[in-house]
This record gives sequence, C-alpha cells and structure tokens, in this order.
Amino acid sequence: METVDLFDLIERMSALIRSEERKKCAAVGLQAVHLQALNYLSRCNKYSDTPGALTNYLGMTKGTVSQTVSLLEKKGYIKKATDPNDGRVVHLELLPEGRKILEQAKPAELFIKAAAMMENKEDILSYEIAFSNTLAALQKANRTQSFGVCKTCHYFTLTDDGFLCGLTKQLLSEPDSEQICQEHTMVLWRL
Ligand code: SF4
Repeated sequence: METVDLFDLIERMSALIRSEERKKCAAVGLQAVHLQALNYLSRCNKYSDTPGALTNYLGMTKGTVSQTVSLLEKKGYIKKATDPNDGRVVHLELLPEGRKILEQAKPAELFIKAAAMMENKEDILSYEIAFSNTLAALQKANRTQSFGVCKTCHYFTLTDDGFLCGLTKQLLSEPDSEQICQEHTMVLWRL
C-alpha cells in the first residue's frame, strides 16, 4: 500500500515539474526534450558527453535524439567535437548561449519555492535519501544506468593524490566529482 502511494506521489510531482518545464520552454521557443538535453550536457562528465550516452539518459530513440542534437547545434547552443584520441567518438559541448537559455528555462524556481516552504531541513535530507533509493530501484527494475553523481559512485576513490576513478584509473578533479556519469555504479543509501 505504502509503495503504491509513493509512486502516486512521484507521478504527481513529475506532472507538476513537466507542466512548469513546458511553460518555460514555450517562452524560449524550445520543447521539453531540448531543455532536458541541455540540462544533461551541463551536468555530465567527460565519459558521458556523447550522443549515445545522451540517448540512454533521455530514454528516447536515436532518431529523436539526433534531431534534438541537430536543432541545438543549429541554434548555437551546443557543438560537436571529435575525440582527440579516437576519431570515431564524438563529444557534445554545451556552449555559453546554451547555458544561458538553460538558466532561463529551468523550472528551478519551483524547487526553490517548495524547499523554502519546508521548514525542517532534516526532513529534506530524509526525502532525498528515500527518493534516491526509489530511483535506484526503478532503474534496476528497468535495467537502465543510474547516471548518478560521481562522488556517490562505487568506483569513486580518495587517494593521497586526490580523487581517482577506480574504473578508468584516471585522476578526477573536484568539479569532476560533482558531475553525473554513464558509468556510475549505485551504492544504495540506508535510512
Ligand atoms: S568514479 Fe564512477 S562515476 Fe566517477 S568517473 Fe568513475 S565510473 Fe564514472
């Protein structure tokens, strides 16, 4: 019974966020998928800024994502760059114009207003943990990647030289540790 209520709540929240997102997108002449792609590229790390990773994150067809990428490129919001070490790999880079439009169109005010209404900050933390675990369970059930924040990954390691990715064996910077990654491996939080 509790599980059904939780999913009902998530569905209602998603509908509210999507409705706000559609309004904001219409004001800047974009569709929700365009904003979601820009938002992803503003948050993903160097291992995850490819058209393939974007397609996995959005859960859409390659054709839809390819059209989205072309439109955003044409508008000057993103650009494609070939990987210097592997000519077959293409990276997508968010350009300053894309970042500007993203800030205008993000439904962030909705979250800020809602957070301000919630007086007890400890409650917010327990909700974050509950929603993180619910998302992890949904992704596991759907067999999709977690795309979590690097510093919460199973492979994220603190060494004497700084942060290290245990999977790629490459050093990570502080900003890297805050980005999302297609290789992220979830560690479930416990309440
Ligand atoms: S530690 Fe995990 S999330 Fe971070 S770069 Fe490595 S695989 Fe990706």
